[in-house]
Amino acid sequence: MNRFFFMVSVPKRPAPSTGGASRPASSGASPRPPQQGGARPPFRPAYGAARGGDNRPPFRGGRNNNRPGQKMQTVGNGQAQRGMSARTVEALNAPKNAAVLPMDNIQGNPPKLKVYALGGLEEIGRNCTVFECGDDIVIVDAGLMFPEENMPGIDYIIPNIACLKGKERNIRGIIVSHGHLDHVGGLPFILPRLGFPTIYTAPLTAGIIRNRQEEFGNASQLKFQMVTGKSRIQLGRNFVFEPFHVNHNISDAFGTALYTPYGVILGTGDFKFDFTPADGDPADLIHIAGFGGKNVLMLMSDSTNATSPGHQISEKVVGEEIRRTIERGTGRVIIGMFSSMLTRMQQVFDAAEPLGRKVLLQGRSLLNNVELAHKLGYMKYKQGTIVEEEEFKRLPDNKAIVVCTGSQGEQNATLMKVANREHKFLSIQPGDLVVFSSSVIPGNERTVQSLKDTLVRQGAKLVDNAMVDIHAGGHAKQEDLKLMLRLTKPRYFMPIHGNRFMLEAHADLAEAVGTPRSNIFVADNGQIVEFDKTGARLTAEFVPSEYVFVDGLGVGDVSEVVLRDRRELAEDGMLVVVCKIDKKTGALVGDPDVISRGFVYQKDATGLVLRAKDFVKKILKDADPKSPALDEYLKTKIRNEVGSFLFKETERRPMILPVLIDV
Ligand SMILES: [Zn+2]
Repeated sequence: MNRFFFMVSVPKRPAPSTGGASRPASSGASPRPPQQGGARPPFRPAYGAARGGDNRPPFRGGRNNNRPGQKMQTVGNGQAQRGMSARTVEALNAPKNAAVLPMDNIQGNPPKLKVYALGGLEEIGRNCTVFECGDDIVIVDAGLMFPEENMPGIDYIIPNIACLKGKERNIRGIIVSHGHLDHVGGLPFILPRLGFPTIYTAPLTAGIIRNRQEEFGNASQLKFQMVTGKSRIQLGRNFVFEPFHVNHNISDAFGTALYTPYGVILGTGDFKFDFTPADGDPADLIHIAGFGGKNVLMLMSDSTNATSPGHQISEKVVGEEIRRTIERGTGRVIIGMFSSMLTRMQQVFDAAEPLGRKVLLQGRSLLNNVELAHKLGYMKYKQGTIVEEEEFKRLPDNKAIVVCTGSQGEQNATLMKVANREHKFLSIQPGDLVVFSSSVIPGNERTVQSLKDTLVRQGAKLVDNAMVDIHAGGHAKQEDLKLMLRLTKPRYFMPIHGNRFMLEAHADLAEAVGTPRSNIFVADNGQIVEFDKTGARLTAEFVPSEYVFVDGLGVGDVSEVVLRDRRELAEDGMLVVVCKIDKKTGALVGDPDVISRGFVYQKDATGLVLRAKDFVKKILKDADPKSPALDEYLKTKIRNEVGSFLFKETERRPMILPVLIDV
């Protein structure tokens, strides 16, 4: 893939700091060839009227969102706000069934609206979408992506916010649709650099964001505004935001309706339609259909399962499957999962209690999340269901469940430590049933396979459960996606959240339910979709969206060059050539020293090492001591010529590191 990388650097710890020394290789929009589906659509009138007021229940109806300590502010309630653009007011307040068409009858001259993704369109992960109209910018989600196996040492990949540099003051807020890492994980790195804009989200998501930010030491700077299905929040002059409830496999997930001067743009967030969800109410179909009854300018919809036929199963079915799985265990049951799989954890508690099993939670992020969800009332379990280390040790095997992190083979997660006998009190014993409750993220396959091998060698039985899979289970399948399209009747459609093949499959579904191909925008990361009075189009303009790597405490200071070095080192190792050079004559003093790491085992290859030393002597004898920039000249000469010499001898290409010491 023709991907470009760039490097930014920010100061290291104590905390990712505001501003940062962002140094993108390119900035601003740059042309790339236009993509398929980018033809300018002909203007045609759209469906119905702008929205009117209504009195729907909050999107998590049945639960009181006004929990103690949670400040619930809603702005708007369908009322026009001071400073709101005329068109947005019109869209909000138009009576039901009034024939107000998008891009028709637009008052004044609203600025162009630009929509682009900084991640999530060529991958599963680092979801981040930007809406820009005049001086107003609204961001939806800022997730992370896990690295692939060919990115040694990289912890995360986050969205590239280079294009927002200099526009921090225009950011009216970041809307966060739910608490999964591919939607919130980039925030700790991005928020300080954007000056901590207000985050609009629901209570559980806010708690997850706060917990993570605390690890970075600047959680006190977070600004939240809680939203419910009744919220109408004015964001600058050109946007009004309204959430709508959807199902996913974490509580508090919502879709986003963003009123713009050109009409309302719906984002589904991660969603499925679940009529018997584990955690509250089914997706608010009436609310969603209400948008379709008026006029939806564009729908941006979750493509994760766009290639899977049929309907997504309900969490209720998943819960029963988890119960059956646990019932199968005759000894201890060890369940590996992501720390944000809160619905799964609830299902584990629900299954454990009737069986008299007790649950030990291992993994700091997992413990934090369970504590948070329980405190906020999103998770229910009896007193005594969760046990600590001491009580766990006294339990008979058939009464014990361990829920831990590490189902992706993450190095520092609990399951890996248990498998490697590095955990402080847990190790695998024959009869343990280990449940992998999430599918392997592409790129982690080999790591997970070797983790499974290690577990099985120690006597564990494994269950891989497609049914309890986070990626398979939480996202709408083809028939659900069609339902979303039918309910919302968008004029334009933009598939999001997925690899290109998923987006294209979703585009086909949209076409099948009647969206003209020319109105479907299959975009790449960074590619700008533009709206004005004449319509919308996928442009050939791009903002930078290259990967930004996080390695330990460094954000963006590992570039593709560093990665290439790491891969080279991993493949063929390195050879350090140390030479003492007479400063005056440029001649070699004494013998060169040659040190091999990861290339050949020095003791077994004394012949090769000696020949290499002689070769270095010869190179330096032939070198021109009068050469300007003598050091660089000698280093390049050593690197190139020793490189070819070693390749001839071994057919390997270790990294050659010449070190010259002036004497
Ligand atoms: Zn999600």
